[in-house]
Amino acid sequence: MSDVPQPQWDGEGGNDPGPRNILLDRQNPDLLVAPKTDRGTVPNLKFSFSMAHTRIEQGGWTREVTQRELPVASTLAGVDMRLEPGAYRELHWHKQAEWAYVLDGSCRISAVDQEGRNFLDDLRKGDLWFFPKGVPHHIQALDEGVEFLLVFDDGQFSENSTFLMSDFFAHTPKSVLAKNFGWSVEQMANIPEREKYIFQGQVPPSLDADRVISPTGDVPRTLTHRMRSQAPHRFEGGSVRIADSTNFAAATISAALVEVEPGGLRELHWHPTDDEWQYYISGFGRMGVFASSGVARTFNFQAGDVGYVPFAYGHYIENLGDEPLVFLEMFRNPRFEDISLAQWMANTPPQIVADTVNMPRSTIEALPKDKRTVVR
Ligand code: MN
Ligand code: MN
Repeated sequence: MSDVPQPQWDGEGGNDPGPRNILLDRQNPDLLVAPKTDRGTVPNLKFSFSMAHTRIEQGGWTREVTQRELPVASTLAGVDMRLEPGAYRELHWHKQAEWAYVLDGSCRISAVDQEGRNFLDDLRKGDLWFFPKGVPHHIQALDEGVEFLLVFDDGQFSENSTFLMSDFFAHTPKSVLAKNFGWSVEQMANIPEREKYIFQGQVPPSLDADRVISPTGDVPRTLTHRMRSQAPHRFEGGSVRIADSTNFAAATISAALVEVEPGGLRELHWHPTDDEWQYYISGFGRMGVFASSGVARTFNFQAGDVGYVPFAYGHYIENLGDEPLVFLEMFRNPRFEDISLAQWMANTPPQIVADTVNMPRSTIEALPKDKRTVVR
């Protein structure tokens, strides 16, 4: 029975004879037996897409983690969506800006802006797209199908309350549609009576064959970015790729794709402007957050989990497994910004820091002055 985790340490606590959910206890060892530095009440900062309702449609499925699932997450909400080869996420728009990362497979997207300028592109695993709020768009899977993560700049967003072309048609009198488009009632005999949302289609032809030339031209800034193709910033414990307004000008949401090697640590840091919304892609690890006032809590994460860090909370993310821990950090801010605890200390007069943490001045002077981001 020694491999069954028990809520006890150093002679304190006790065993748990049950009832208990042993699978969840094994996935969350730092909740069952928290580091002794944890204390007080920190709001829940974790929700797994596997605990979200999955909406199944012809040609795909979708599930979402919003403020309803994770009440602390007020700034951003996320959607995990799959489309089978050729399937559509229908032409639609919404009140929120949409940032997306392709997790698997490939897809085609389109958009048309307020000037009638258009955009059409294909994306593969590791690519991003961004649609400004209100701008209508579509997504269609290519021949391998596609799975992607969508992130919206409002925690209250729901993928179930977007504005769909078919729904607009179904709720407009046919006499008005006829006048609007110059169509006869007979031409509209088969228009949808309700929303389509996700539905099966044919894999589209080549990008060039699908392209429409708008008289007002292309959208002025690209709406896609090849994040995984960026040369990463490499550090001793892993690597980071950042996509923000410095290299993806259209986006008002910034992101970092972080890979932490086994034994590595996303260093102690915080963000000076915004909450952080995280999506875990692979690996297993833990995040400790420091909420001021002597309060701290630790959470475990694995593939498919969402994490959240309120603005200004100090935190670290540690790889506890034997494969890379890969995750996205996202912010409702065009710029990615973080403050490193180590860099702050190294660039402050050393006697002040030495007196604060009760360390020799020489130890503080030896700290590297550059940001290290992922250490080992
Ligand atoms: Mn959308
Ligand atoms: Mn962070």
